[in-house]
Amino acid sequence: SVPLGFFSGLGNASSHGILVKGSNYLEALNGVDTVVFDKTGTLTEGRFEVASVMPAPTISKETLLEYAVSAEQGSNHPIAKSIVAYGKAYLSHTDHVSYHEISGKGVLLNLNSETVLAGNRILLKEHGIDVPHIESPYTVVYVAKNKTYLGAIDIRDALKPDAGYTIQALNKLGKKTILLTGDRDITAQAVSSTLNINETHSQLLPEEKYTIVQNLISQGHKVAFLGDGINDAPVLAGATVGISMGSIGSDAAIEASDIVFMTDEPSKIVHAMQIAAKTKFIVK
Ligand code: ADP
Ligand code: MG
Repeated sequence: SVPLGFFSGLGNASSHGILVKGSNYLEALNGVDTVVFDKTGTLTEGRFEVASVMPAPTISKETLLEYAVSAEQGSNHPIAKSIVAYGKAYLSHTDHVSYHEISGKGVLLNLNSETVLAGNRILLKEHGIDVPHIESPYTVVYVAKNKTYLGAIDIRDALKPDAGYTIQALNKLGKKTILLTGDRDITAQAVSSTLNINETHSQLLPEEKYTIVQNLISQGHKVAFLGDGINDAPVLAGATVGISMGSIGSDAAIEASDIVFMTDEPSKIVHAMQIAAKTKFIVK
């Protein structure tokens, strides 16, 4: 259940699936000069398809998937859901002692005698595990058991159908567009160059996304941040106008948002700006 009670449907906006916490936030959209986007689940579908499963030399594909699915089972992240959907037949280690989600990096699962990691290179390196360099424009999830590297899963995420229109329309309105992502540089650059996004920051932790937005604001910019609500709460709260997409975001993200879109279409930000531009706000 989503705590949407304190959002008002501002006539025209709510009929477009745009919920606003107060008319002042709609009004603030008129002053926004910079629109910052999260990548996964915001501009991309967040529904990853497994492109290839790459076990380490002495490891079977089944073993790699067994540990990957077991580790990702408890996570709500779009990456985790896709791996579980792909490999659910391999789920085997359900007797875990503890489970940790490492925000912007991956997951760590403690079994009785084994520790399983699934996440990016940084996560595995932090645990002293060497990973090979994998040449891929997609998102690569590396998996390890104790100190043993088990292999990697290459997953592909598609751009949302309205992502291109969204950036094009914002460019026309003269807004600066920025992409922030925890994903690798090569994946981020592929998205930015396809969509014509002005500026790109990759391999960020959630707190680094927050810092980038705060720096823009302290430089005098009015910043709208649009995220899918996974790990986004601090950035949403810190932006001039924080916007999340209500159908997947967590309660915490929705509470931190000023505006919530009822669908997962980023183009709603263009509609919201058009509505804000046409609305007559009462002068206080
Ligand atoms: P984004 O900024 O694109 O929304 P996140 O900050 O959510 O991405 O995640 C950043 C990176 O951390 C991902 O690209 C992935 O490499 C890794 N990661 C995050 N969560 C998981 C997970 N559950 N399983 C594997 N890897 C993950
Ligand atoms: Mg995200």
